[in-house]
Parts: sequence; C-alpha cells; structure tokens
Amino acid sequence: MKMPKNIKTYCPFCKKHTEISLERVKKGKASSLTMIARQKKRQTGIGNAGKFSKVPGGDKPTKKIALKYRCTECKKAHQRKGFRAKKFEFVE
Ligand SMILES: [Zn+2]
Repeated sequence: MKMPKNIKTYCPFCKKHTEISLERVKKGKASSLTMIARQKKRQTGIGNAGKFSKVPGGDKPTKKIALKYRCTECKKAHQRKGFRAKKFEFVE
C-alpha cells in the first residue's frame, strides 16, 4: 500500500489534530522466545502441512508494518498498532 509521508491526525500529547509525519520503524532483533519457536518449527514441520499458515519460504506472505507518528508541533512520537501489508511505501 502507499501512504503519504505527512498526514493530519490526532496527537495524544497536544490532545488535538496536528500535522504528523510518519516514520517507518525498522524491525528489531527477534526475541529469544521466538527464536526457540522457530527452531521447534524446523524440527517438527509446519502446522497444517504448510497449506494455509505458511508459504514455502516459511514466512507469512504479508509483513507487519510498524509506523511511528511524529507530531510536527511537539516533536513527540507515538505508535499505533501495526497492520499487515505485502508492500509498503511512502508517497509525496
Ligand atoms: Zn503533538
């Protein structure tokens, strides 16, 4: 999906709608718990024979997009729940 880099939306710090610039949050390192889960998957095979839960690559076909919403007035950033999309890019 495409999204404009600046949108007007609610800022929880200013408590009103302000101009907000979006920043892509880079995916952090996987926690040790998910690493263990990944190793287990490799040993036992994937869920329902890989028919629905996974693609052959072993990864989901969509990626969760996390965004930071930085207010241009108070310069503070807040985050919302990520959403899934195959492709994500900013448009001017
Ligand atoms: Zn603000």
